[in-house]
Amino acid sequence: MADCLFCKIVQKKLPARIIYEDEHSLAFEDINPQAPLHVLVVPKKHIPTTLEITIEDNALVGHLFQVANRLAKERNIAERGFRLVMNTNPESGQTVYHIHLHVLGGRTMHWPPG
Ligand code: AMP
Ligand code: ZN
Repeated sequence: MADCLFCKIVQKKLPARIIYEDEHSLAFEDINPQAPLHVLVVPKKHIPTTLEITIEDNALVGHLFQVANRLAKERNIAERGFRLVMNTNPESGQTVYHIHLHVLGGRTMHWPPG
């Protein structure tokens, strides 16, 4: 999608600190990290919010979790624990309308979230 920030990162039209890439997904460091590890895992396919995920995307969305798990293991936070977040629409705090899985770790997380 032409005016989508994360599509531009996927297409390498905007810079990002990319830490993982495969045919269907990309992972890069969040520009405003909220934890020692804060990575975003995005599908290369443009999906605006979780509400637009269809049955055809089931494997793709599962794949995002596989990538997140792999990164958590590589960064040695898997056993300690980490948080996976996907915000949907304004009251959740979603600001970029291309779905992305936040991978947050390296510190104790609080609950309930703010
Ligand atoms: P959300 O608020 O759930 O939509 O998350 C959007 C995330 O994207 C925020 O954590 C931002 O800090 C992050 N972000 C915005 N622009 C960029 C960028 N150019 N590169 C990396 N992360 C970004
Ligand atoms: Zn997009």
